[in-house]
Amino acid sequence: MYSYLAHLECTQCGKTYPAGALSTVSPCCSKVLFARYDLPKLGREVDRDAVERRTGGMWRFAELLPVEDPANVVTLGEGGTPLLEATNLGKRLGLTRLFIKEEGLNPTGTFKARGISAAISRAGELGAAGLTMPSAGNAAGAAAAYCARGGMELKVFMPQDVPDANKKECLLTGSEMNLVDGLIGDAGRLAVAVAGEQGLFDLSTLKEPYRAEGKKTMGLEIALQLGWKLPGAIVYPTGGGTGIIGMYKAFQELLELGWVEGRPPKFIAVQASGCQPIVKAFQEGKPASEPWPDAETLADGLRVPHPFADYLILQAVRETGGTALAVGDREMVEAMGELGSAEGVVACPEGAATLVGLKRLVHEGFLQADETIILLNTGSGYKYLHLMADTI
Ligand SMILES: *Cc1c(COP(=O)(O)O)cnc(C)c1O
Ligand SMILES: [Zn+2]
Repeated sequence: MYSYLAHLECTQCGKTYPAGALSTVSPCCSKVLFARYDLPKLGREVDRDAVERRTGGMWRFAELLPVEDPANVVTLGEGGTPLLEATNLGKRLGLTRLFIKEEGLNPTGTFKARGISAAISRAGELGAAGLTMPSAGNAAGAAAAYCARGGMELKVFMPQDVPDANKKECLLTGSEMNLVDGLIGDAGRLAVAVAGEQGLFDLSTLKEPYRAEGKKTMGLEIALQLGWKLPGAIVYPTGGGTGIIGMYKAFQELLELGWVEGRPPKFIAVQASGCQPIVKAFQEGKPASEPWPDAETLADGLRVPHPFADYLILQAVRETGGTALAVGDREMVEAMGELGSAEGVVACPEGAATLVGLKRLVHEGFLQADETIILLNTGSGYKYLHLMADTI
C-alpha cells in the first residue's frame, strides 16, 4: 500500500505538472493545483473492502494520499472520527437520517489536523526544511503540533485576537509565533514574504496542493461510514473552503473508482453574517467572490474575508445543487448549547453554525425529512471555553 499520486493539475486550465517537487500555486494561472492519482490502476489493484478493514485513522486511505514513503508520514492519530447519528436533534427537526461528523476528536481538537498532517508529511518528503503558516488560529495550532512531531521549524502568523487556546498550543509546541495586527489576509502576505526571504515553504490554505488532500479524507470516511453510500447533503462551515473542496474531490474520486454509486451530496456552505463573501457571490450568480469588508465574527475559522479558492467552493456548491447561507454569532452560540444538551456534542461555534443553517433550510423546505444529512462539527468546543458562559 502506498500513494498512487500521478501528477498535479491546474484547476483553472487543466495543465499538468510533475508532482515530485515542492509546489505552490499553478505557474500557468496562479490558481489552485490539485493532486491527481492513477485511479484506473488503483481501482485494479486496491480492494475497497480491504481498505475498510484497516485501522489507523485517515492514513488507511494512503493510496489516495500524496505521501510516497510511509516513513515520511507525520501523524498524531488524525482522522477516524465518529459519524454520530443525531437522533434527538433529528426528532426535534422531523429528520430521520441526521448525522454529525465529530471532528473535535482530532489531535489539537479540529479537522485542521488532517490537512496539516498530509501537507507537512509531503513537504518534508520533498525536502522542505522549515515552514510558514498564516492562520485564523486552528491551522496554526495544528501545524505547530505536527512540526514539533516531525522535527521541522515553523513560523506561524495569525491575527492577535485569536483564541487563547491557539496561542498556547503554538507556544507549548515550540513554534515561532507572530501576532499580526490585521486579519488572515494580512497574516498571509507576511508569511509568504518571510518564506521567500528565509527559504521556508508556505502552507497557506490551497496555495499548496496537499492540505486539501488531508481534508479530503473526511469525505472518504463519510462514504465508508455510511456503508459506501453517499449522503444527500453536507452542511459545512465555510472559511477558506478546504473542507468542501476536499470532500467534493473525494466523492468524485470514489465515483470514478466505482467504490460508490450515485451523485455527490449537495454542499451547503454556512458562513457568518459578519463575513459572508461566498454567500454574496452565490446569491449574485458570480463565479468568484469580492473581499468582505470589516470581517467580524466570533467564529474565528469563518473569518476569511476573501478565500483564495472561492471559485472552487462556488463550483462545489452549484454543481451539487447546494446552497450558501449566513448565520449570526448569537445564533451560533445558542446552537452550541443545543448540540450539547441534545446530543452531548461539545461543538465549536463554526460547527454549531451548521445546526443554525440546517434549521433554516428545513424550515424553508430546501432539505427533505428522509435525506441523509451530515453536519460537520469541525472542532471541539473545548477550544472555545470563553464562549460557553453565554450558552447556559
Ligand atoms: C478552519 C476552520 C473552519 C473553516 O474551514 P475551511 O475548510 O477553511 O473552510 C471551520 N471550523 C473550524 C473550527 C476551523 O478551524
Ligand atoms: Zn492553469
